[in-house]
Amino acid sequence: MNSMQSMDRDIDHILVSEEQLQDKVAALGEQISRDYQGRDLLLVSILKGSVVFMADLMRAIKIPCGIDFMVVSSYGGANTESTGLVKIVKDLDADLTGKDVLIVEDILDTGITLSHLLPVLRMRNPNSVRLCTILSKPSRRKADIEPDYLGFEVPDEFVVGYGLDFDEKYRNLPYVGVLKPEIYSK
Ligand code: 5GP
Repeated sequence: MNSMQSMDRDIDHILVSEEQLQDKVAALGEQISRDYQGRDLLLVSILKGSVVFMADLMRAIKIPCGIDFMVVSSYGGANTESTGLVKIVKDLDADLTGKDVLIVEDILDTGITLSHLLPVLRMRNPNSVRLCTILSKPSRRKADIEPDYLGFEVPDEFVVGYGLDFDEKYRNLPYVGVLKPEIYSK
């Protein structure tokens, strides 16, 4: 048995295919390239979930841009839900002064994580801060925040693949899918 087959077997159904993701990322890259032409664009990836999207999106952006990375974690968070404040585990290296910051995220779920992070970044004197997420679960939103650039809306199901994990696995699946229920109860 190879590992690819075993990951596929854990998936109940696919929500967004590899081809759909590629087409959307290309379109987002074109739009961002147009919108940020002549600006000092800095892509800020929130690790680890956005790593696959970031790698694809930055190559679909056809204008000069910088990249930087941040690791955040929820205080006292449960496994699959963020609660309350976020802690910056690894901060950015870049000085945001005058930069046009585009946050690159895997999924906007409740929005709680980013609703705490955005004000922190805005205090660092950037020219602008906007949000690009490949996925969004609008039915789960608790904070008043929406992506400026969005790939796909997904239903209220726990998804994996394209950077998103369950127990640190499935991030390398090239599509977005829903796990079989028995995987959770193992
Ligand atoms: P939020 O603060 O918007 O509720 O979500 C914060 C983080 O929770 C996301 O960046 C993502 O890492 C994680 N998350 C939310 N929904 C899902 C999901 O369906 N699957 C996975 N694997 N992670 C999720």
